[in-house]
Amino acid sequence: MERINHWIGGKLVPGSSGRTGPVFDPATGRQTHEVDLASTEEVDAAVAASLDAFPAWRATSLSKRADIFFRIRELLEQRKPELARIVTSQHGKVLSDAAGEVQRGLENVEFACGIPALLKGGYSEQVATAVDVYSIRQPLGVVAGITPFNFPAMVPIWMFANAIACGNAFVLKPSEKDPSASLFLAEVLADAGLPDGVFNVIQGDKVAVDAILEHPSVRAVSFVGSTPIARHVYEHGTAAGKRVQALGGAKNHMVVLPDADLDMAADAAVSAGYGSAGERCMAVSVVTAVGDIGDELVAKIAERLPNVRVGAGTDPDAEMGPLITREHRDKVASYLDSGREQGATIVRDGRQDRVADGDGFFLGLSLLDHVTTVMDCYRDEIFGPVLAVVRADSYEDAVRMVNANPYGNGVALFTRDGGVARRFQFEVDAGMVGVNVPIPVPVAYYSFGGWKSSLFGDSHMYGPEGVQFYTRGKVVTSRWPDPATSTVDLGFPRTR
Ligand code: NAD
Repeated sequence: MERINHWIGGKLVPGSSGRTGPVFDPATGRQTHEVDLASTEEVDAAVAASLDAFPAWRATSLSKRADIFFRIRELLEQRKPELARIVTSQHGKVLSDAAGEVQRGLENVEFACGIPALLKGGYSEQVATAVDVYSIRQPLGVVAGITPFNFPAMVPIWMFANAIACGNAFVLKPSEKDPSASLFLAEVLADAGLPDGVFNVIQGDKVAVDAILEHPSVRAVSFVGSTPIARHVYEHGTAAGKRVQALGGAKNHMVVLPDADLDMAADAAVSAGYGSAGERCMAVSVVTAVGDIGDELVAKIAERLPNVRVGAGTDPDAEMGPLITREHRDKVASYLDSGREQGATIVRDGRQDRVADGDGFFLGLSLLDHVTTVMDCYRDEIFGPVLAVVRADSYEDAVRMVNANPYGNGVALFTRDGGVARRFQFEVDAGMVGVNVPIPVPVAYYSFGGWKSSLFGDSHMYGPEGVQFYTRGKVVTSRWPDPATSTVDLGFPRTR
């Protein structure tokens, strides 16, 4: 079986730990690869390669760094279909969705092309006689990224584009479930002229993650994944003195007010609830129907579901692919039984769909109605094609429900009333808000991140906050020697 290796110091390095894990094609259920799982020593080697590369890379001019990022952009643009195919073959999402993921990642590379402007500092002339002050931002050194299975191309790019453009060396620990995209990206960076060792990939699991968290030379860690692991990474990383941003899970509500266009809301709920089989951290997983529109909205959502074509991601007609693993598919499906046992109505049971031949990890589109906030299907992040509808008596009830939820990643409001929409964005406790936009993922020149249990740490990811996260500030106060004004003065430096 083909092995998936590490990428250290500009080349593929076969694993030496003796541990490997299986990688599957979720559309067939068959194992396609073995991925190396790193030992602590292999993580040490990746960090050592980064440490070696860092001094020359941080001294590389901003124009040269921008040149390399322009070339990365060109190569990624040309090779987008290839990368999308790799994503589909191990993640399962349909090709058009994989291409969309690559495109959103590419936008982060475009943002990083502007690094000369992004790293401009401030300057104050004559803060005291002949004294000037300026501020600069400098890279941290070796920084690491730990990424989830659901965006094997985009999330790593969210991190490394800004980190490397800022002058850091980067160690990526991708998900062991779909690790090949990381090596494709490593090749693209090398082909674009990035010096060896500036970008390294270490394949692995908890052993590699914990080695990164404990490594004294790793200055900062970016993490995206589930909330329990995000909390672990934040607590252990910060305890070891690192800067950490750890993005966790989500339970995104789509609040539909009685004045909304219900057809548009139903289209949006289906698109955002079942796109990528619900395995997006910004997927809508709860529709909150406000007032007396519940029955009509549920009917409109339900009538759309049989029309969604489910199949292998490589099938050009498929709109929704399989889930990532058999275990995850079965766990997602179990929320239908627990939902019914706890009082919800199963409007559509996707387990009854015969989706495809073979043993792929498919589950059809499922819809639960009359869900309440005490049920497991409401409380847990399901991360699959099971959409829950809850009813709220009023706008105030809906906002109370969203704000009481422990997660606070994305939220959307559907309404025609601009005044209520403005009130909603003011009152709601979530990091990313959509008004008639169901998946409000910020563009690359804003930053991405949730609130509450969806984010540990202060810093959102990519965009301006990404640049801030991967650099530290320095302020220089300078006076050019002028013998004519020089005296001994033991007083505290004064500005007036
Ligand atoms: P995960 O938490 O299982 O894995 C994420 C990373 O952590 C992987 O690299 C994995 O190898 C590592 N990991 C897993 N278990 C670990 C352990 N015990 N100790 C140390 N490291 C460990 O997440 P996943 O299943 O790959 O991804 C899905 C989750 O990611 C969902 O909860 C989803 O909401 C979340 N997610 C969040 C965002 C966001 O921006 N907030 C974006 C994408 C995904």
